[in-house]
Amino acid sequence: MADEGEEEEDYQNGYDRFDELQLSDEAETDSSSSDTATDGDDSSRPISITYDPAIPTRHQYLGEEMDEFSGRTVIEPGQVIELPLMPLPTVVLVPGQTIPLHLFQSQFVTMMQNVIDKDRTFGLVQGRSMSELQGKVGTTVEIFSRKEEVEAGITTLTIKAMGRQRFKILSLRTQVDGILQATVNILPEILLSPHPEKALASCFDKFGCQATCSGSLERYRQTSGKSRLGSSRKKKINASLSSWPAWVYKLYDPFRLMDEIKLELQRWSQTIRLENVPADPIDFSYWVAANLPLDDTLKIELLNIDCTTQRLRKELDIMHKCSVLCCRDCNSTIAYKTDLFCMSLDGPLAAYVNPHGWVHETLTFYKATGVRLRGRPTAENSWFPGYAWTIAECQQCVNHLGWRFTSVKKGLTPSKFWGLTRASLKPGMRADSEEELPTEPTSPPPFWSRGRTS
Ligand SMILES: [Zn+2]
Repeated sequence: MADEGEEEEDYQNGYDRFDELQLSDEAETDSSSSDTATDGDDSSRPISITYDPAIPTRHQYLGEEMDEFSGRTVIEPGQVIELPLMPLPTVVLVPGQTIPLHLFQSQFVTMMQNVIDKDRTFGLVQGRSMSELQGKVGTTVEIFSRKEEVEAGITTLTIKAMGRQRFKILSLRTQVDGILQATVNILPEILLSPHPEKALASCFDKFGCQATCSGSLERYRQTSGKSRLGSSRKKKINASLSSWPAWVYKLYDPFRLMDEIKLELQRWSQTIRLENVPADPIDFSYWVAANLPLDDTLKIELLNIDCTTQRLRKELDIMHKCSVLCCRDCNSTIAYKTDLFCMSLDGPLAAYVNPHGWVHETLTFYKATGVRLRGRPTAENSWFPGYAWTIAECQQCVNHLGWRFTSVKKGLTPSKFWGLTRASLKPGMRADSEEELPTEPTSPPPFWSRGRTS
């Protein structure tokens, strides 16, 4: 990538062309092609969803015949390595999140061909200019599916890849072919013990309870959260044998935090299948980071956190405070969090790519408000086969928000829904002063480093 500004312009042109295509396909802008669409009732919320959520997850619009790769590259945390880097201005990818890419610029096609021949791993970071990328945290991405096509002498490469590990950029250089090469440090994933060091009595095991000191999270991870938390008697024994009050355990036990986040997720949307979310605290924390309707600042903040427990606590805090989703540019209310739902097995958010290579992290909502439609519906290249899409803009500031999807097949529910881009929204957060009074102190003593005993 010799010139980030040029790349950005290409992407933007791609987007503009995409808009023009849609309009020219259907009609010139007449009085019916631009209207206000506000779902003011519950008619768009179906009793059940009949659409197969596996279809968008497969990214069927990319074509079915792709080469699949198996295996996984794991890089030791702390290791300093060289990675070819792809900056994307609107995508913040976290480990575990899938991204499709459609590449036709020769430098990126060559870069990915080389990556596939090596270890299928490259780096992805949110940003545009070199100066903006320096020191930033990104994610290694591993390609698991590929399709190469040559038409009229032009090679296009379609890939599906998954975020793997976080890294910090140490230095950057641009190769003669324009590709960015980054020297990165693979970041660790820090697991705090769910119990303060030596805080429980040594006779603890007599009660048949779990281990108490560092390393116990590893033992916790070998059992399901449910069975571990199954006995309220055990929990009482834990607290009574410790010098720390019960709320300390609650704040630092990743499984308790996961339970609280799951409860909150169910309040947001009944369509989130909790049996499909990761059981491991690290994977779970990233799944939540990938699926919440966060703006770039909040998502990058979560990506920068090394400690799983801290990440889970931050996510829970965001979920408690967020109530509405607003237009990023003019702050108009666009959607309510309770209208978020899953059209994909990935969750309420998934990244999709359009024919011009522009990747959109897209959230699905039953309803939206203050939105204006542009153009007529078209089913061409639909990310949700069976649904036609129409461009949706903010009624106030004309910011591109996403699309309205309407079913073109009989019997599909929901009959319509909204796919809004994460990048166009920001969560409306309740200020701390408006928060309900906390039942527990929020700043526990720094006992982890002290190793205080009873
Ligand atoms: Zn707006």
